[in-house]
Amino acid sequence: MKIIMLGAPGAGKGTQAKMIADKYSIPHISTGDIFRANIKNGTELGMEAKKYMDKGQLVPDELTVRILLDRVAKDDCSNGYVLDGFPRTIPQAEVLDSELTKIGDKIDYAIDVDVPDENIVNRMSGRRACVSCGATYHIVHIPPKQQGICDKCGSELILRDDDAPETVLKRLKVYHEQTQPLIDFYSKKGILKTVDGTVDSADVFKAITAILG
Ligand code: ADP
Ligand code: AMP
Repeated sequence: MKIIMLGAPGAGKGTQAKMIADKYSIPHISTGDIFRANIKNGTELGMEAKKYMDKGQLVPDELTVRILLDRVAKDDCSNGYVLDGFPRTIPQAEVLDSELTKIGDKIDYAIDVDVPDENIVNRMSGRRACVSCGATYHIVHIPPKQQGICDKCGSELILRDDDAPETVLKRLKVYHEQTQPLIDFYSKKGILKTVDGTVDSADVFKAITAILG
């Protein structure tokens, strides 16, 4: 099963993608996580990506597509995957589509986690991410058992640099301009499924599993 998560930054794509990955035993692939791991390790790719991420801009398609295609070619993707944060532009979606077509394959579902802009700044300012394993929490809605500490690996939780309110507003603008058109793109392909992302994360997941089976 090959799944794409769509939705504004902070809509809950990552939260749901992790649950989908666990339930259906497929890898969760987040281009944002790949970039952040590279930034942490000080790689050339990380330094290049950081220039854009810190400004709330998208990393150029050429770079992002290469990273993603390398990742989905790995053995653990043979039974499918859930993509979180990719594609984010029509050209990215078109490349993914044509690469899959070449191997007689396709995306099965594009799930749009729908959350209005008004809720997003609150979601992002309360988001805390693990420096080590990338798990995410929300200080009010999905708190860790112990404040500031990751439930899964015990490492420190931080506020992401790009979750500062002024960067969030920029990211939302970029989302509406460059990513939202993907909703129409996948709707025309007949694989778009929309879920209400404003409800409790367990209920969002119920709606998603009702779709995926
Ligand atoms: P995205 O991957 O779309 O950027 P995340 O999954 O990281 O979004 O979620 C953004 C923030 O909102 C996180 O702090 C997360 O814990 C919180 N969150 C996710 N789903 C919900 C929900 N259904 N209700 C309230 N908060 C949520
Ligand atoms: P995310 O973790 O999905 O919120 O992504 C964080 C940041 O990484 C984004 O704001 C972009 O700067 C960059 N990024 C992640 N995925 C992509 C993508 N598919 N295309 C371009 N930039 C991306």
